[in-house]
Amino acid sequence: MSTAKLTIDLTALADNWRALDRLSESETGAVVKADGYGLGVAQVGKALAMAGARKFFVAQAEEGLALRRALGHGPEINVFSGHMAGDAELIRSADLIPMINSTDQLLRQVETLPGHVFGIQLDSGMNRLGMEPAEWAALRDIALAQRPPLVMSHLACADEPEHPMNAAQLQSFCDMTQGIDAPRSLAATGGILLGPAYHFDVTRPGIGLYGGLPFADAQTVVTLDLPVIQTRTVAAGETIGYGNTWTAQAETQVATVSGGYADGLLRAMGNASDAAFYHGDIRLPILGRVSMDLITVDVSSLSEPPESLRLLGDAQGVDTLADWAGTIGYEILTSLGARFERIYRS
Ligand SMILES: *Cc1c(COP(=O)(O)O)cnc(C)c1O
Repeated sequence: MSTAKLTIDLTALADNWRALDRLSESETGAVVKADGYGLGVAQVGKALAMAGARKFFVAQAEEGLALRRALGHGPEINVFSGHMAGDAELIRSADLIPMINSTDQLLRQVETLPGHVFGIQLDSGMNRLGMEPAEWAALRDIALAQRPPLVMSHLACADEPEHPMNAAQLQSFCDMTQGIDAPRSLAATGGILLGPAYHFDVTRPGIGLYGGLPFADAQTVVTLDLPVIQTRTVAAGETIGYGNTWTAQAETQVATVSGGYADGLLRAMGNASDAAFYHGDIRLPILGRVSMDLITVDVSSLSEPPESLRLLGDAQGVDTLADWAGTIGYEILTSLGARFERIYRS
């Protein structure tokens, strides 16, 4: 079998949730959008509910339905995109809480689902989702009369603690929510790490749960092992892979592993001079270009041909791969391919 194994440590995931929960006095929610950051919303959602999470967040109503099926009745499921046209039946039947982003969405909500609970999303400066101050000022009394369970906003630069945008958005959120009774939420993973001023009543960590930066203390959740299909000896002067981008300076043992850019192992990684796999604690450089289904690796330092090589694990995580490819850990995680065999450890 040439299928790579993606192992997802649900105990580490739950430990990361508890560790983030300990950093604040407020209630800790859990963001499981994009299929639980690519790791499987049903398994991830259940593990987080067992750890104690009671407020979940997804991007779209359809994701909310998948999560509701996994969790059953009880936990709150909040939808960042709010109430889009055609969502009413889904919101009602899956008992979702849309975060209302605009006057249009508020009208849609009260017309199609009178009496159904909704939250509010405010724009404190990111200019992506939520009501701006003027719109909110006009709707505030009507919306608050419905007793929303959450009034939230999102930080644009929370992974840069020194960025002046953080304080500016905090001020804007405080101004917009001054004197309201409804529970408030501003912080995702980065916001939790900015300190108590950013925590309010509910926090919404995502990436930190899955082992990604900026939560540097996170435990490793994801391990990825790729089977070796073939090994060969390449003589000095020979080249490897598409475009002949790598030429052997000396005789080299080369392993070809099963996995490539079709699995989200970004082609751009191959350009980084320090891109590598691991076998135990031995680092093994990637050679040449990443292909659609294959990657070639220098295994000259091993005494025997390996059966599989590790790309993600304790030695290097999603943020290391992200650096090689010029992106962020979030993109590596959510790109991890559908072809991998997923193994859940708990
Ligand atoms: C994705 C997202 C989160 C979680 O962010 P992380 O950086 O992954 O912790 C929280 N709130 C909103 C609105 C989001 O879009």
